[in-house]
Amino acid sequence: MAMEMIKGLATTLRELGQKPTTVSYPEEKRDMPARFRGRHVLHRYESGLERCVGCFLCAGACPADAIYIEAAENSEEHRVSPGERYARVFDINMLRCIFCGYCQQACPTGAITLEKIYEISDLRAEDLIYHKERLLEPLGSATRGSLDAWVAPPPADPATPLPGRQGFFDGQPATATAVGQGDLPAEQEIELGDELARRDVAWKEEA
Ligand code: SF4
Ligand code: SF4
Repeated sequence: MAMEMIKGLATTLRELGQKPTTVSYPEEKRDMPARFRGRHVLHRYESGLERCVGCFLCAGACPADAIYIEAAENSEEHRVSPGERYARVFDINMLRCIFCGYCQQACPTGAITLEKIYEISDLRAEDLIYHKERLLEPLGSATRGSLDAWVAPPPADPATPLPGRQGFFDGQPATATAVGQGDLPAEQEIELGDELARRDVAWKEEA
């Protein structure tokens, strides 16, 4: 018993001269590790265009169903991203998010990263749904965020915006991307092939 007490006191004495490991938050903030996964940031290209092309891959990869996106078409008069589409609405529910980083890994354009931002508490649940306006970095800023610490660099600025072309699927206009024919000239019918076309007709007749 006495031996244990002496050992305990020795530990205390040894630590007395050490620098404290605690910090006086919030006046003082700890520098987080490079790969810390905190609140998300949506990034821009140097040109100011948004990296997000509204592809939904991040939402699909999210195990917590925390991301809600509504995509809209770019036009030459109103171009927001270099792709055919951009995220008109991009919400993240911070109450659902488990900060796993899957959304960052799934993104093909380096548009979304998890950063060292950890002050995300709030008083009302609805205030923890973060909208695009809050997530998107300000115009004039084009950072790559924590991607540098994780993986190869994201794609650089595209030289010119990608052309927004339209395709047709099942007789209906659809984005060329949606029908998997992004390089087709506008208004060209997509050949389904005999077998697919037969099935298409059969499905319509059954409906
Ligand atoms: S960090 Fe994980 S849980 Fe949070 S939004 Fe991204 S994929 Fe979903
Ligand atoms: S953040 Fe990336 S993965 Fe998510 S919709 Fe935008 S481009 Fe696609």
